Parts: sequence; C-alpha cells; structure tokens
Amino acid sequence: YDEKMVREMEGLEASGSTYVCTLCDATRAEAASNMVLHAITRSHSENLERYELWRTNPFGESAEELRDRVKGVSAKPFLETQPTLDALHCDIGNATEFYKIFQDEIGEMHLRHGEGSRLPAPNREERRRWRAALDKQLRNKMKLKPVMRMNGNYARRLMTEEAVEAVCELVRSEERRGALRELMALYLQMKPVWRSTWPARECPDQLCRYSFNSQRFAELLASVFHYRYDGKITNYLHKTLAHVPEIVERDGSIGAWASEGNESGNKLFRRFRKMNARQSK
Ligand SMILES: [Zn+2]
Repeated sequence: YDEKMVREMEGLEASGSTYVCTLCDATRAEAASNMVLHAITRSHSENLERYELWRTNPFGESAEELRDRVKGVSAKPFLETQPTLDALHCDIGNATEFYKIFQDEIGEMHLRHGEGSRLPAPNREERRRWRAALDKQLRNKMKLKPVMRMNGNYARRLMTEEAVEAVCELVRSEERRGALRELMALYLQMKPVWRSTWPARECPDQLCRYSFNSQRFAELLASVFHYRYDGKITNYLHKTLAHVPEIVERDGSIGAWASEGNESGNKLFRRFRKMNARQSK
C-alpha cells in the first residue's frame, strides 16, 4: 500500500501533515534535523487508543495540545496495516524529490537561500524555465520524455548515473556537480536494499553499508542541499533514510512486499473504504 492508503486506514492526517511518518511519531522538523535515527513505534492498537483520546479529550486540552498528544491521529483507524514501506512508492517518491533537486540545481537555488543571499526567491516563470531546461536535457540525452505524474518507469530512468551526468552538464559549479554525483551514487548503493527480495543474500555489501550510506546522504542534504531541507523533508526520504534497516532486519526484506501487480488488493481496499465510510455516517 502507498502512504496515502496507510494513512486513511490507520486514521492518520493526510500526507502533508506535520506528523511526517506512518511508522514513527517524528514531526517534519524533527525528521529534518535528525534524518536517520528513528525507531518504528506506531501501531494499530496505539492508533486506536489515540483516536479515543482525540475523540474524548479526557484532559480538556486545547486543539493544538490534543493533536500533539495523539500525534496526528484524526479519524478512526479501521484496518491494521503492516508497519513497513512500499518499495515502488519509495522509488517514485524519491525520484519526484530528485526531479525537484535537479531543477533547483539548474537554477542555482543555493544562491537564493540563507541570510547572506541578496537574490529574491524564484518566481513561477523562473521555476518553469528550470524545469523546461531539465526536461529538454533529459529528452536529448536520454530520450526520456517528461511525464505528468511520476511513475515507476520514469523513476528507474531518472535515478541513474546517466541522468545525473546529463544534469551536471547544466550545472556550473564543479563542487555542486560533485555533490550531485555523490548523492546519486549513495542512492544507487542504498536502493537494492529496499528493492531486492532477500537483501542479506542478494546485496550483502549494500545492506552492511546502508546505515553508513544513509548517514552520509543525510549529511549532504543538511549541508550542500540545505536550501531544500531547512526544517523540511519529504515523507519517503524520511522513511528511506530512517526506517529501512529496521524493517529489513525484522522482515528480511522490503521488496517482497512491493505493490507491483497488487492492483487487486487496491481494489479491495477501495471497496472496504467505501463500506466503512457508509458505516460511520
Ligand atoms: Zn518515521
């Protein structure tokens, strides 16, 4: 299941919530300032307990205090989900983020961020130009056509050395090109760990180095790419950096639960959701 579904089933606020994760209680700011060290703590039974607190407000707290107490539970959880992440949506979510990083690097966003910067924030027209430049470059160099909505195929093509090399041709600073290449290299080292069905056997070296790689990846985001991760981080980057080793240790793999070919499951879910919505009216 993708995150949107898990949030609905477990009664959590929508994916834009301050409570960034379906697996732990971190807020977006906490997840950005500490990108790697988070344990899986949420559970269906706790979500149910929290819903009761949210519904009854036994301590007479303000809306804000209550929300903090229940960590973003805002509806009745109705179906227990496996506390894991979906490998396909992980790829898609992270590729969406890299697509934006690439645009920002083409536009030299780092020059617009922070106290010392005299340049204004980019307007829509500038952003549109950066995006058009990226699309054109990827089309010319890789025959990769832009898509309306990120999908698995586009994500697979974008998250490659070839794509980062194409982007680097549009980036002026040698230092930033180096950082982009390192970021992608780390990502490609981490990816097999959530994609393979048996990481301990299929990619033992990458599994061993995962925590080290994710730590270095997080350092890059917090330093070179600070302009994007100043108190913010995306839901899937958080899960990728913080929760993958714990899930692999517990379940043996993440890839085995991938949602490819799981459309029938999704259909079943939608029916269930409809039934539930009717009941609670
Ligand atoms: Zn988390």
